[in-house]
Amino acid sequence: MSLIEVKNVTKIFGPNPKAALQRYRDGLSKEELLAETGHTLGLADVSLSIGKGQIFVIMGLSGSGKSTLIRHFNRLIDPTDGQILVDGDDVIKMSIRQLERFRRTKMSMVFQRFGLMPHRTVLQNVAYGLKVRGVGRAEREAKAMEWIERVGLSGYDGQYPTQLSGGMQQRVGLARALATDAEILLMDEAFSALDPLIRSQMQDQLIELQSELGKTIVFITHDLDEALRIGDQIAILKDGRLSQVGTPPEILLNPADDYVTEFVRDVNRARVLTVETVMRPPKTRLTGADIDKALGEMRRTNADWGYVVEDGRYLGVATQESLAAAVSANDGRNLYEVAEDGPTVSAADALEAALPAALETDYPLPVVDKEGLLMGVVSGREMSSALTPPKVASAAAAEPGGSAGRAGGAAPASTAGKTAATAESPAAAHRETAKLDG
Ligand code: ADP
Ligand code: MG
Repeated sequence: MSLIEVKNVTKIFGPNPKAALQRYRDGLSKEELLAETGHTLGLADVSLSIGKGQIFVIMGLSGSGKSTLIRHFNRLIDPTDGQILVDGDDVIKMSIRQLERFRRTKMSMVFQRFGLMPHRTVLQNVAYGLKVRGVGRAEREAKAMEWIERVGLSGYDGQYPTQLSGGMQQRVGLARALATDAEILLMDEAFSALDPLIRSQMQDQLIELQSELGKTIVFITHDLDEALRIGDQIAILKDGRLSQVGTPPEILLNPADDYVTEFVRDVNRARVLTVETVMRPPKTRLTGADIDKALGEMRRTNADWGYVVEDGRYLGVATQESLAAAVSANDGRNLYEVAEDGPTVSAADALEAALPAALETDYPLPVVDKEGLLMGVVSGREMSSALTPPKVASAAAAEPGGSAGRAGGAAPASTAGKTAATAESPAAAHRETAKLDG
């Protein structure tokens, strides 16, 4: 279910944005708009949908429009054109009073530079949102203490922000946002100022909190590794335009354009991609004990290998050769006896973990879930192919304001991402790309 709905939002900064909007619609690029009208294109026809209970990451280089986009959600910025719905409510139509209430209760924000009040203690900072909301002192302080403990700052409640390290200050910022119990957490480069180790601890904590509390978190970062680590969905912005929206594997396997391809090139794919994202259905499933029937099925599907399954459970593999031999031997063995045990891989395994087993077998490995049900198969070659990043098709298309960029912006990128995922398996599409690349 979608909680935040962004519909064709365009934002132009400058003295006469409506007139500049017309010039943009007439075809000026971001650079041309700035050069000819002095207006800055902040966002260009952005449409996306953020589901309840997701960690939704907005990614892009500095100046790509990330902060501009997230600030539309609680209407710190008004769009030049387009619509923002939160839980079905049109944010732009809210009165000042409604908006104040909405900001206090529905969303809370965590900032990059912590945004703490220096003359107030940790406790007072964390309790602040509740105080503004009119919650009595005892209650708000009890609640604030809970969150201070939860983010690992027990004992620091009486200290002032300047007495804390950056990582600790960011925890205060997080505790403050969580204490208001808002359904939506907006985090604008909240972890970008932290050292790598602290940052990775904070990421873990955020993932844990999210799964426990079920909040919807909109998280901005310019760091792809961070995006892949914590994001359920990732939206990639370039020059105010959405390049792609998708899950981490979708983005790695099916980058929508050269810009995204360039972005994902150096990612450790073996660690991010799971077996599930590259597996495919087996050519031949064999069920029942009858070897004559099984051999017939293998011949009909022209398969060398068949996967023996009972009630969905994987039992072993059989070759056409071994079945043919058993049939002519006529020694009374059934399919379960002819089938051979062998290695399997888990759907949830990272390719890094699964690849060694795949390289040891000469048939596509069976992929099983936790219950041992056969989910699909995958060969070592298919895994290796998914590990090879796609190549950038053309240098010209990657240029800012290039025609490819414009065309991409015309269709809502959120649908582009989804289509890619449903049309065919990401791995299959990837294999296509790999083929094209020769
Ligand atoms: P990001 O957060 O991705 O670094 P921003 O959303 O801050 O990017 O900025 C997007 C674009 O909009 C940039 O070109 C920036 O210069 C411009 N911009 C942002 N805020 C303003 C503003 N208040 N006035 C004029 N231009 C702005
Ligand atoms: Mg920003």
